[in-house]
Amino acid sequence: MTIADVAFDAPVRHAFSYRVPEGWTLAPGQRARAPLRGAARVGMVVALREGTDPQLKPLARLVDPEPVLSTTQLELVSWIAAQSLSSVGSTCAALLPPPASADAGRVPEIARDGESPLASPKPELLIGAGRERRLLERLEITKGAALVIAADVETAAKWAQRLAKIDRVVRLDSGVPDEERAAAWRALRDGSARLAAGTRSALLAPLRPPATLVLLDEHEAAHKPPGPPRMHSRDVALERAAREPLALLLTAATPSAEAWWRAESGLIEMPAREPGPWPAVSIADTRGILRREPLTPPLSRAIRETLAARRRVFLVVSRLTSSLACDECGTVVRCAACAIAFAYSRAAARLVCRLCGASQPLPDTCAACHGRRLTPFGWGAERVEHAVRRRFPDARIARWDPEAARGARGEAQRAAAAAADVVIGTRGALRLFGPAALGLAAFVAPDQLLRAPDFRAGERTLALAWAAAERVAADGLLIIQSQNPGHYAFEAVARQSLNEFYRPELKFRAELGYPPFRRLAVITARAADSAETRRLAETVGAALRGAKGLTVYPPVPDRSDRTRRIVAKGDADLPRRLDEALREFKTPSGGRGMIDVEVDPVEWPF
Ligand SMILES: [Zn+2]
Ligand SMILES: [Zn+2]
Repeated sequence: MTIADVAFDAPVRHAFSYRVPEGWTLAPGQRARAPLRGAARVGMVVALREGTDPQLKPLARLVDPEPVLSTTQLELVSWIAAQSLSSVGSTCAALLPPPASADAGRVPEIARDGESPLASPKPELLIGAGRERRLLERLEITKGAALVIAADVETAAKWAQRLAKIDRVVRLDSGVPDEERAAAWRALRDGSARLAAGTRSALLAPLRPPATLVLLDEHEAAHKPPGPPRMHSRDVALERAAREPLALLLTAATPSAEAWWRAESGLIEMPAREPGPWPAVSIADTRGILRREPLTPPLSRAIRETLAARRRVFLVVSRLTSSLACDECGTVVRCAACAIAFAYSRAAARLVCRLCGASQPLPDTCAACHGRRLTPFGWGAERVEHAVRRRFPDARIARWDPEAARGARGEAQRAAAAAADVVIGTRGALRLFGPAALGLAAFVAPDQLLRAPDFRAGERTLALAWAAAERVAADGLLIIQSQNPGHYAFEAVARQSLNEFYRPELKFRAELGYPPFRRLAVITARAADSAETRRLAETVGAALRGAKGLTVYPPVPDRSDRTRRIVAKGDADLPRRLDEALREFKTPSGGRGMIDVEVDPVEWPF
């Protein structure tokens, strides 16, 4: 008899075996319903083999009339699961369209994508002004299939509209109904559509060669949200291009350090571009200025002039962080070993490093200048709005923080911001403005970004400042008020030179062993109560320290002491070493608690 190994969307690593009923035609890559713990659940057939086992239950029903994943793609899914220490079933579930309903009709037989002898060309990274226009021009002359992956549904919808001017386009993101997504998948496979737009759930959509895969804004953290597939879309796309013959195009305003490093190493092409138009950039030094007022005189003057010219103003604010810096010289209090900002807890009156767990009492004076004003100072959006209203009572002023205000209130805020002369907003509010739409953009206190207790704080600051500059007209102005006016992220923006940033940034990453030079993982332990959690974290930490090739930091409790996190650093083989060390903890047993492993985290989860 034929036995099918089926992987389910569950945190179990192994597949389950079933008998294939007589007369079924079935291949790996097809989904089927099968009984699992008393319910019929959808799983992916990962392998078929001949055998005899009278105990095996039969598969209940076929879900896909033919395979939705090719052999090559099934191997890619297994690779993603192994690299992210997650299950094949969960990875499949996240990367496939919902199963078509029974009446969706049988799809016409098409030739299975055979092993093509063609190799993929080297992936290309498009940067600089007009990168999206250049991308669209490339797609206009492309003959074969093209799939554009965006970081969010809104952008996917926008690209679907752009592509529709070239040819019929189908959508593979959650902005369209399930039925439509399933039909889009089939249309790509049978060749009735060749253009598609989607989000990361579409990364494995079938593409007939010669195919082009596009990943927009490869630097976006939104390409790795929580949940499976637990891998950044950039890494999935690069691996797919290595396994299937397809042209991979990435775009970024400010590439991730990982992508920049690949380009420097010759693994990715990064065609040089003439610099496009750029606004004047002025960096205002706010060190030692007693801050009663978020707007320095040059910024107030620039706002007045911009409003008089009937142009728009965007003031960028950030969430208040809980780290400490010197108001005199701007020096951030950092962990000596990890070089990331200490987290400041007012209640505990202590500083804690969220990477290595080092802790120290609050210092009285600044180590750099011996100044005595060390504060968690920052400007919140409300205080900035208040200051602007007082000075410019006749202007239309709106505040928008898309992350903080959702639903009807968020919509109302967005509408007000879209019509305002002065918008005070966080990073997400940038999407209100197209290229060169602003007369003035200003960072009120970007030091809050630089102080974030995350080794990517510099990269995030650069990304935001660069994105703001791209939205200011060439005859407009970008003002950065900072206590760290000499920071290389600001220098790079002022000179419109990404090199100015990545040279020192990659040096810093290499010296301290951060990505792309070493890989990180965060292991989170959670048990019934804090004592159990502590015990579990200690055991897990000991198991990791016993493994070769890992640097393991002590467990650090979260703010509520409900979970403990351990950071482990390793080399390219980090997933395998973690898997070996943690095997016994991956299956929940006997109330000992649970661990979760996040490999290559992009959002520092503290
Ligand atoms: Zn100081
Ligand atoms: Zn540290």
